[in-house]
Amino acid sequence: MAAECLFCRIAEGTIPATTVYSNDEIVAFRDVNPQAPTHILVIPRKHIASILELDPADEALAGRLLRTAAAIARAEKIADRGFRLVLNCNREGGQTVFHLHVHLVGGRVMSWPPG
Ligand code: AMP
Repeated sequence: MAAECLFCRIAEGTIPATTVYSNDEIVAFRDVNPQAPTHILVIPRKHIASILELDPADEALAGRLLRTAAAIARAEKIADRGFRLVLNCNREGGQTVFHLHVHLVGGRVMSWPPG
Protein backbone atom coordinates (compact mmCIF):
# COMPACT_ATOMS: atom_id res chain seq x y z
CA MET A 1 0.00 0.00 0.00
CA ALA A 2 1.14 3.53 -0.75
CA ALA A 3 0.62 5.65 2.37
CA GLU A 4 -0.69 8.77 0.66
CA CYS A 5 -2.76 7.02 -2.00
CA LEU A 6 -6.49 7.77 -1.86
CA PHE A 7 -7.53 4.52 -3.55
CA CYS A 8 -5.24 2.40 -1.34
CA ARG A 9 -7.04 3.93 1.63
CA ILE A 10 -10.44 3.25 0.11
CA ALA A 11 -9.36 -0.35 -0.58
CA GLU A 12 -8.27 -0.85 3.03
CA GLY A 13 -11.45 0.79 4.31
CA THR A 14 -9.99 3.82 6.08
CA ILE A 15 -11.68 6.22 3.64
CA PRO A 16 -15.35 5.39 3.06
CA ALA A 17 -16.78 4.58 -0.34
CA THR A 18 -19.91 2.94 -1.67
CA THR A 19 -18.48 -0.48 -2.44
CA VAL A 20 -20.31 -2.64 -4.95
CA TYR A 21 -17.80 -5.53 -5.14
CA SER A 22 -14.78 -6.67 -3.16
CA ASN A 23 -12.52 -9.70 -2.98
CA ASP A 24 -8.96 -10.32 -1.86
CA GLU A 25 -7.41 -8.51 -4.85
CA ILE A 26 -10.07 -6.22 -6.38
CA VAL A 27 -12.43 -3.54 -5.04
CA ALA A 28 -15.15 -1.69 -6.96
CA PHE A 29 -16.94 1.39 -5.67
CA ARG A 30 -19.15 4.18 -6.97
CA ASP A 31 -17.40 7.27 -8.30
CA VAL A 32 -18.00 10.24 -5.98
CA ASN A 33 -18.53 12.52 -9.01
CA PRO A 34 -20.50 10.32 -11.43
CA GLN A 35 -20.40 11.16 -15.13
CA ALA A 36 -23.26 8.81 -16.00
CA PRO A 37 -26.15 7.10 -14.16
CA THR A 38 -23.77 4.21 -13.48
CA HIS A 39 -20.16 5.19 -12.78
CA ILE A 40 -18.07 2.66 -10.89
CA LEU A 41 -14.31 2.45 -10.38
CA VAL A 42 -12.72 -1.01 -10.42
CA ILE A 43 -9.29 -1.11 -8.79
CA PRO A 44 -6.66 -3.62 -7.72
CA ARG A 45 -5.85 -3.62 -4.01
CA LYS A 46 -2.20 -3.67 -5.07
CA HIS A 47 -0.82 -0.18 -5.62
CA ILE A 48 -0.07 0.19 -9.33
CA ALA A 49 0.24 3.86 -10.32
CA SER A 50 -1.10 3.56 -13.86
CA ILE A 51 -1.38 1.23 -16.83
CA LEU A 52 2.23 2.18 -17.61
CA GLU A 53 3.35 0.48 -14.40
CA LEU A 54 1.76 -2.91 -15.11
CA ASP A 55 4.37 -5.64 -14.79
CA PRO A 56 4.22 -8.95 -16.66
CA ALA A 57 3.36 -10.49 -13.29
CA ASP A 58 0.23 -8.31 -13.20
CA GLU A 59 -1.20 -9.57 -16.49
CA ALA A 60 -3.60 -12.05 -14.89
CA LEU A 61 -4.73 -9.39 -12.43
CA ALA A 62 -5.38 -6.96 -15.30
CA GLY A 63 -7.52 -9.60 -16.98
CA ARG A 64 -9.49 -10.17 -13.81
CA LEU A 65 -10.04 -6.40 -13.48
CA LEU A 66 -11.68 -6.39 -16.91
CA ARG A 67 -13.75 -9.51 -16.21
CA THR A 68 -14.87 -8.00 -12.90
CA ALA A 69 -15.91 -4.80 -14.67
CA ALA A 70 -17.98 -6.87 -17.12
CA ALA A 71 -19.59 -8.84 -14.28
CA ILE A 72 -20.51 -5.60 -12.51
CA ALA A 73 -21.99 -4.22 -15.74
CA ARG A 74 -24.26 -7.29 -15.83
CA ALA A 75 -25.13 -6.90 -12.14
CA GLU A 76 -25.97 -3.21 -12.72
CA LYS A 77 -28.19 -4.27 -15.65
CA ILE A 78 -26.39 -2.09 -18.20
CA ALA A 79 -24.61 -4.89 -20.06
CA ASP A 80 -27.20 -5.48 -22.77
CA ARG A 81 -27.70 -1.76 -23.47
CA GLY A 82 -23.96 -1.20 -23.54
CA PHE A 83 -21.43 0.62 -21.46
CA ARG A 84 -17.90 1.97 -21.61
CA LEU A 85 -14.66 1.07 -19.82
CA VAL A 86 -12.09 3.87 -19.55
CA LEU A 87 -8.53 3.95 -18.29
CA ASN A 88 -7.12 7.47 -18.11
CA CYS A 89 -3.34 7.71 -18.10
CA ASN A 90 -1.19 10.70 -17.14
CA ARG A 91 -1.93 14.36 -17.70
CA GLU A 92 -3.29 14.49 -21.25
CA GLY A 93 -5.24 11.30 -20.61
CA GLY A 94 -7.01 12.99 -17.72
CA GLN A 95 -5.65 10.84 -14.88
CA THR A 96 -6.05 12.52 -11.49
CA VAL A 97 -5.65 9.58 -9.10
CA PHE A 98 -2.43 7.64 -9.58
CA HIS A 99 -3.68 4.20 -8.58
CA LEU A 100 -4.78 2.08 -11.53
CA HIS A 101 -8.56 2.14 -11.99
CA VAL A 102 -11.03 1.14 -14.66
CA HIS A 103 -14.01 3.48 -15.02
CA LEU A 104 -17.23 1.57 -15.75
CA VAL A 105 -19.73 4.08 -17.12
CA GLY A 106 -23.19 3.42 -18.49
CA GLY A 107 -26.86 4.06 -18.24
CA ARG A 108 -26.86 6.64 -21.03
CA VAL A 109 -25.69 6.89 -24.63
CA MET A 110 -21.94 7.57 -24.85
CA SER A 111 -20.59 9.95 -27.46
CA TRP A 112 -17.53 9.44 -29.66
CA PRO A 113 -14.90 10.83 -29.95
CA PRO A 114 -14.40 11.18 -26.20
CA GLY A 115 -13.78 14.65 -24.79
P1 AMP B 1 -9.14 9.69 -13.10
O1 AMP B 1 -9.39 11.15 -13.38
O2 AMP B 1 -9.25 8.79 -14.27
O3 AMP B 1 -7.85 9.51 -12.33
O4 AMP B 1 -10.33 9.23 -12.16
C1 AMP B 1 -10.36 9.45 -10.79
C2 AMP B 1 -11.79 9.34 -10.37
O5 AMP B 1 -11.85 9.19 -8.96
C3 AMP B 1 -12.65 10.56 -10.70
O6 AMP B 1 -13.74 10.17 -11.55
C4 AMP B 1 -13.14 11.04 -9.35
O7 AMP B 1 -14.46 11.53 -9.37
C5 AMP B 1 -13.02 9.78 -8.50
N1 AMP B 1 -12.85 10.01 -7.08
C6 AMP B 1 -12.02 10.88 -6.48
N2 AMP B 1 -12.12 10.77 -5.14
C7 AMP B 1 -13.03 9.78 -4.90
C8 AMP B 1 -13.58 9.20 -3.72
N3 AMP B 1 -13.19 9.60 -2.50
N4 AMP B 1 -14.50 8.23 -3.85
C9 AMP B 1 -14.91 7.82 -5.07
N5 AMP B 1 -14.42 8.32 -6.23
C10 AMP B 1 -13.51 9.30 -6.15
